[in-house]
Amino acid sequence: MQTQNKLKDEEKNKLFIQAMDNFRSAETLDEILSSWQTILSLTHLSPNSGIHIYYYLMCKSKGINWCKDFKNKMDSKLKQMDMNHLTPEYNEQSVVVVGAGPGGLVAAIESALLGTRVTVIEKRTYLSRNNILHLWPFTMKYLNTLGAKIFYPKFGVGGMDHIGTKQIQRLLIKIGLLLGVKFYFGHNFQDLHKLPNQDQILTRCNPHIPDLPCTLLIGADGVSSTVAKRYDFNRKTFVHSLSIGITFNFNNTHTPEEISLREFAVASIYHPAYFKEIQDKFNIQLENLVYYQGETHYFVMTIKKNSLIDRNVFKEVKPQISELIDCSNVKIPELVALARDIATFCGVPQTNEIVLNHLNKPDVQLFDFSERIQSDDASRIIPVLNQKEKEIAEIAEPEVEKSSNVIVTLVGDSLIEPFWPLGTGCNRAVLSALDAAWMVHELATKKPIDDIVKTRQGCYLKMKNALAETFMEPFKISVNPYTRYSTRRL
Ligand SMILES: Cc1cc2nc3c(=O)[nH]c(=O)nc-3n(C[C@H](O)[C@H](O)[C@H](O)COP(=O)(O)OP(=O)(O)OC[C@H]3O[C@@H](n4cnc5c(N)ncnc54)[C@H](O)[C@@H]3O)c2cc1C
Repeated sequence: MQTQNKLKDEEKNKLFIQAMDNFRSAETLDEILSSWQTILSLTHLSPNSGIHIYYYLMCKSKGINWCKDFKNKMDSKLKQMDMNHLTPEYNEQSVVVVGAGPGGLVAAIESALLGTRVTVIEKRTYLSRNNILHLWPFTMKYLNTLGAKIFYPKFGVGGMDHIGTKQIQRLLIKIGLLLGVKFYFGHNFQDLHKLPNQDQILTRCNPHIPDLPCTLLIGADGVSSTVAKRYDFNRKTFVHSLSIGITFNFNNTHTPEEISLREFAVASIYHPAYFKEIQDKFNIQLENLVYYQGETHYFVMTIKKNSLIDRNVFKEVKPQISELIDCSNVKIPELVALARDIATFCGVPQTNEIVLNHLNKPDVQLFDFSERIQSDDASRIIPVLNQKEKEIAEIAEPEVEKSSNVIVTLVGDSLIEPFWPLGTGCNRAVLSALDAAWMVHELATKKPIDDIVKTRQGCYLKMKNALAETFMEPFKISVNPYTRYSTRRL
């Protein structure tokens, strides 16, 4: 009987090790979630167990090398936090993050590390973004502290300082799951509400998620943020000169010829001869051009509107830029031909096909970045009342309103839309996510919410002006903003 049980345990352990390894190497969202489901069912862990999932799994995976590496990384992060977290005060907080882009995922991971219950709501059900993000030295270092290399061994190899959007999402989702973050993919955030006669603030989504409490709402839902709109953040639009961008991806088959291609970022004001050659050869006038090599050959550039018109890319020349570049007005074969000319000029072999996106369409995209949206405030205090409280508040009882307040904060592109040639987007998303996680700490330590909002605003003003150089050594990488921003006052 004992031998039989031992055999059963050995078999179970083998399955567990296999499931953990499958999880680590999973590529698509479906693969990540199904291997995670296997891990949960083999260990009988509930997805609601928060950070205990991490401790249980690390204890059980002592024989798995990558888990040891991950635990070492997390141990040093926890040690570095230098505060008394993981206490019931942290566990009482329920953080809801809207959006599983880089900003939302970092906010979720850092909040989970504090011992808070974290849920991420993401409307998409797939990871399909091929755009490659340039990362500052600070962001590279930060991602290394999370163990990025464990899940994406090519990370940082040979001084590489960029990563595909879907690769960063993939590795951060895995880290989040291991730290007990709960994910709902395929759900659209709608608003916060209270059930009649109840005090708890809940999150309303479509499709519905039952009983999802929220003590801090983090809007990381990109430029068109539902959270910012729903909670009346004052967002201003800054209009710049007309700038049309194009991104496209060609398959990378990693032949020696392709591997030898050098990555570059050039601007026409510094390399006029290079850009004149492109114009003379293909009738394409560019202002700048960036090429990165990752899982794909990735290109991003600013193109003159007239070049697109001359190359017959539009069905109709419309005066409104948004209507002009709308996909319904774009002739995809002509745009692909233009992309092919540029890729060939840069050395991508003609035999390499353009990558297809999740809709099975060529992954080539026009975007307008002449206007950029920016929120005045990083956070707002929002009263969420049930019917009875609303009635009392109406007859002038402001105290009722006060007791039902919740902080809503924005991170990443929803807070400040990036200007892509500066490569600030993902980097500032990470910084603002760390700032948002600091609010979790302050809520748990019962700091008055007006003060929490004030500190966050101070962080935002610092973050807005952050550039790559500002965030190199000697600053420490931590959720504590006083260790990241060169100031003692926020
Ligand atoms: C062409 C291009 C090139 C770029 N190049 C660079 C670069 O070189 N370097 C760089 O740092 N940045 C670059 N960026 C910017 C970068 O992609 C973003 O800044 C970065 O992804 C910010 O992350 P985020 O988490 O704030 O938002 P996003 O990555 O936009 O994520 C938002 C998420 O929220 C989800 N969502 C939206 N609404 C809802 C809702 N109601 N409910 C639930 N989920 C919702 C979306 O599906 C999405 O997954 C580039 C952007 C573009 C378009």
